[in-house]
Amino acid sequence: MIVKKYKNLQLDFDRQIVEQMAKIAIHHYPNEYGGFLLGYYSNDFTRLHIKGFLLVDKYVSSPVAFRRELNIKIHNFEKIFQETGLYYIGEWHSHPNASAWYSLTDLQAMNNIVSCNTVQLHNPVLLILSISSNKLLDFNFFVFDEDRLVVYE
Ligand SMILES: [Zn+2]
Repeated sequence: MIVKKYKNLQLDFDRQIVEQMAKIAIHHYPNEYGGFLLGYYSNDFTRLHIKGFLLVDKYVSSPVAFRRELNIKIHNFEKIFQETGLYYIGEWHSHPNASAWYSLTDLQAMNNIVSCNTVQLHNPVLLILSISSNKLLDFNFFVFDEDRLVVYE
């Protein structure tokens, strides 16, 4: 298990989950691809456990952009929570042949998620995977906090 920190917040995940996402993203190379992150918080909300991910089927993508349909179907997440105990906690997508750092568009997308009043998610996580045509090069987890994206170290 890998643990990363930002201020008093911790995030943990198995590298295997990241590798699985990368494998799927590589299938979509050279276009970007991504989806949702699932997980749960500790009782005091200081630790986030990332436990799974979902793919999206409605999206627009190119080598430099990935935009899913913005209308999140809340009922699906309720069902997922009932079945697995996992919540929608953020987003992930690939950056083919580019850095694992967020773009201005990515920042705006996270801002939209927080502003969206159907989603009660104040500090969504963003995972960016830097990939080549055949492997995962790098990745970063960011948390949206006070209108900024900050990286978990
Ligand atoms: Zn991006």
